[in-house]
Amino acid sequence: LLDRVAAHEALGAFLSVDEDVALAQAAAADAWRARGVAGTGHSLLGVPIAHKDIFVTRDFPSTAGSRMLESYRSPFDATVVTRLAAAGAVTLGKLNCDEFAMGGSNENSAYAVARNPWDTGRIPGGSSGGSAVAVAARLVPAATGTDTGGSVRQPASLTGITGIKPTYGRCSRYGMIAFASSLDQAGPMARSALDCAHLLQAMSGFDPRDATSAEQPVPDFVAATTGLREGATAAQPLKGLRIGLPKEFFGEGVTADVLAATRAALAELEKLGATLVEVSLPRTELSIPVYYIIAPAEASSNLSRFDGVRYGHRASAYKDLDEMYRKSRSEGFGSEVKRRIMIGTYVLSHGYYDAYYLQAQKLRRMIADDFQAAFQACDLIAGPVAPAVARAIGSQTDPVAEYLADIFTLPASLAGLPGISVPAGFGEGGLPVGLQLIGNYWQEAALLHTGHALQ
Ligand code: GLN
Repeated sequence: LLDRVAAHEALGAFLSVDEDVALAQAAAADAWRARGVAGTGHSLLGVPIAHKDIFVTRDFPSTAGSRMLESYRSPFDATVVTRLAAAGAVTLGKLNCDEFAMGGSNENSAYAVARNPWDTGRIPGGSSGGSAVAVAARLVPAATGTDTGGSVRQPASLTGITGIKPTYGRCSRYGMIAFASSLDQAGPMARSALDCAHLLQAMSGFDPRDATSAEQPVPDFVAATTGLREGATAAQPLKGLRIGLPKEFFGEGVTADVLAATRAALAELEKLGATLVEVSLPRTELSIPVYYIIAPAEASSNLSRFDGVRYGHRASAYKDLDEMYRKSRSEGFGSEVKRRIMIGTYVLSHGYYDAYYLQAQKLRRMIADDFQAAFQACDLIAGPVAPAVARAIGSQTDPVAEYLADIFTLPASLAGLPGISVPAGFGEGGLPVGLQLIGNYWQEAALLHTGHALQ
């Protein structure tokens, strides 16, 4: 695999690879296997993976796709990294992403262009673009990603792989370089729902180091993914499952090819025994302004720690402390990050806080309530992940237009609900299209099971 990674360097999937670390971990896995410890607790023994460069690691650099952290080495591992290593996974390196996970194309990475293996002139999506490329190009069987407003689901959709964003609080955020703390969640990206289940099993669970991680029992995701639903049969594994289709997800704004692929996947689910019902998420459109107020607000606060003193980049010449801060931050951050810091600082400032931030928080609650109303009539919600297939690299220069493409992933993020993207089929140009399934809180197993049935 290391040779394969090197041979496909032009895809821009990896930001760092360390052969020595990978081979040492592989040798340790072999030794464990020889001692017969394979089995419970070592479910990923010897499985090669790679981490989005948003997770801090002792053995590799941790850049968050930013110049600001170009030479940064973390003194500790993120909890997700530790847990996957404890399950026996072997880490090959760190994966490209949009700077501080801000973006949906991977074009905001300060380091390399990530290319969609289905058409290398196109984006792989983002911000976990490197993770999606690495899995889609078969450089690794599985990778970690993070999803704040769609960054696991959207790149999975655009590259034809499977990715799940768990319920907020399911996986520890300890050691995940923070973008918007009330939204950030780690999630696995792999070839299938079953592979995702294996990773999620190892990644999940309460962590005393993350105050927002939940003391929620972790079910057996693998068994639930492959198991039979109550009342179902082998031929109709989804019998009794009610899938809600929010009418706002099937209106204008979705391209015809994506709509066709989505409908075809839904027809498959129906054949497998599921019932389709219409539901409504009336504030879907509002999720864009709400997210693009709350996420930048939290980002402006989280990114204040990059001051040229504590971590990362420091300007080489300055007159005084103030100029050191200013120059370090101007040099270290890219333009999208600066844009978000400015928006966030603005919406939090005196006089604008009530008008923007507080209103956004109220609407966020209403968006979450809309989901609960919809779940009265269905068990899962389904719809597109992204409004269109992967676009050409460099073809979008308007940041606001780019934000609009997040419309179908933001609602679940704002509500803290789990969401999965599974391959639905192909759209224009033979490019992959994903189907999104959204569940109620802690219902990841139902998402994995349904995704698995479709695969
Ligand atoms: N595209 C969204 C953004 O730019 C989502 C990013 C994410 O989930 N990390 O904020």
